[in-house]
Amino acid sequence: MFLPPSTLGILGGGQLGRMLAVEARRSGYRVVIFTDEPAGCPAGQVADVEINAAYDDAEALQRFLTQVDVVTSEFENIPDVCLQAVEAVKPLRPSRLAIHTTQHREREKLFLREQGIACAEFQIVESLAQLEAAVAVLGRPCVIKTAAFGYDGKGQAKVNEDTDLAEAWKAFEGHHAVVEQWVPFVCEVSVVGARSVEGRMATHGVVENRHAHHILDVTLAPAQVEAAILEQAYELWEAVAVGLDYVGTMAVEMFVTADGKVLVNEIAPRPHNSGHYTIDACITNQFQQQLRAVCGLSLGDPTQHTPAVMVNLLGDVWPSETQPPDWSSILNHPRAKLHLYGKATARPKRKMGHFTVLADTVEEALESAELARSALL
Ligand code: AMP
Repeated sequence: MFLPPSTLGILGGGQLGRMLAVEARRSGYRVVIFTDEPAGCPAGQVADVEINAAYDDAEALQRFLTQVDVVTSEFENIPDVCLQAVEAVKPLRPSRLAIHTTQHREREKLFLREQGIACAEFQIVESLAQLEAAVAVLGRPCVIKTAAFGYDGKGQAKVNEDTDLAEAWKAFEGHHAVVEQWVPFVCEVSVVGARSVEGRMATHGVVENRHAHHILDVTLAPAQVEAAILEQAYELWEAVAVGLDYVGTMAVEMFVTADGKVLVNEIAPRPHNSGHYTIDACITNQFQQQLRAVCGLSLGDPTQHTPAVMVNLLGDVWPSETQPPDWSSILNHPRAKLHLYGKATARPKRKMGHFTVLADTVEEALESAELARSALL
């Protein structure tokens, strides 16, 4: 068990690490960030120490490891050599195996299949001939996704009735790809939860996620779906957490189909954008749960106390790269909370921050959030 003032090491320097570091420091932990980003990254700004080096820089890793008691990661694309080096000397939670499995779509899908966890039909391909065979079986539309390092719809191509497979394959040439049957979903939901070192689990509620251009746009918490959907979603989350022997906060994104089935789309071995509302709307938020789980403590009560809607703030709403929008519509709102990630330059599609609006119902929160957002533009 790690109690304050123990030192939490975080691999990765983005906004998830930043929000985790804020929680940790609030409770008196020290925080050391290891990132391949330049100094002054979002997490580094609020940490005690920031180490900026490549993830395979053995000397820098040693410097990191001598300063920390326990290590977690805030994004999954950490090279395996780094995870191995960390796990050899310090507790790494979630484990190298859990991160290794979920950082790669092929391994993640094979894990789901092996565990009998519901997901879209898929095939792994590594050549045009295999793609053609897969599409013949899975049918059109379907979607090709790179096995490694894809996120927010990057490295994906939809195969429609008229798509030329040879043309589509060019972007994937030389790589492994997952070809997935198209799921005509009625909505997308996710479950964020945590699992402790002893295997106890606590999930936040099922939330609905609406995407724009493959990037999360709005989260409605709780999701307005039937009890049978909620039950399936929690069961899927638990099956994934147990299957990975997971420790920490984890998100599972899912599709809900018209005939009432829930399918796993993606696993995130870390806190997740769709769990940001928990900071303002839950007794224990997803970052506190991560901290508790990673430090070997008991999990907190994840209960949501107020309906909420979270809206992502992408660089697109910045009038220019360095000039932020006028925040008054959010900052003057009595039940809105603004979260900015400390990124100096805005670029289209870059996640710069988010805001959460609390209300008596989700519908009211959504209406109010949309008004606040349109006032920004
Ligand atoms: P991903 O990066 O796999 O989470 O995909 C990004 C988004 O693309 C998802 O949130 C869905 O909106 C959409 N998408 C991905 N895979 C499928 C699929 N098999 N069927 C339908 N929509 C999909």
